[in-house]
Order: sequence, then structure tokens, then C-alpha cells
Amino acid sequence: MEHTPSDQIDRVKAPEENFTGDVEFGPLSNVEPDGLNALEVHFQPGARTDWHRHPNGQVLYVLAGEGLVQNAAGERVEIATGDVVYASPDELHWHGASAHSHMSHLSLTTGGATQWEPRKVTDEEYDGPTS
Ligand code: MN
Repeated sequence: MEHTPSDQIDRVKAPEENFTGDVEFGPLSNVEPDGLNALEVHFQPGARTDWHRHPNGQVLYVLAGEGLVQNAAGERVEIATGDVVYASPDELHWHGASAHSHMSHLSLTTGGATQWEPRKVTDEEYDGPTS
């Protein structure tokens, strides 16, 4: 058994190369090759990932705040505390905080590293369709 007290979780700033805005990771698991990768991810308002895929999909569980998830097919959902989103294997998508709220989610993946597209989420994409 391994116990990590909350104040000993090693939070690190997410790289600007793959994210827009202020984002922090808190790794919750020791990742073996092809093992479970569990991360707490904290987004400040307006912060988001770049477009990306996960080889075996991804479970997102919202711990706090409000945010957005969108895929390349144009599906777009608003998420809030307690919501769960599943991104299918290789589904191109992004996620982040809403413009007016921080957002923290748990990310659960297996199957190795995130596959990043060389593509930021533009402000136009982030703001979404206007009706
Ligand atoms: Mn993802």
C-alpha cells in the first residue's frame, strides 16, 4: 500500500506546447508501461488542452468547477462537478475550463501517451458556435 497525503501530490505546470492558459497536473499514479495513468488536472478560467487523442480512450471525472469538452465531429458539452465524459479511443477532442470558472478533472487513461495534434484550440473554437 502506498499513501500520498494531499499536500504531497507533486503538481507541475502543464507545458505551453500542448495547452493554452494556466494548467497544472497532479499525477496520482505511478505509470508503468501500458498501466493506468491517473491525473488530477486543474485549469484556470479559459485554459484548455490542444486538440489530441488517447490510444485507449479517456475517462474524465469533473472534481470541481465548470468546463467544456468538444470533439472534431462538433459535439460540444458543458461539464460541471460530478459529470463524467468518456472520449473513445483515438477520438480527436479537447477539454478545458469555461471562460468564467476554473475546472478540475480526474483523467484516467491507459495505453500510453496522449497523441497531440499540432493544433491549438483557437479562441473561435473555444467560444463555440453562436446561435
Ligand atoms: Mn483528452
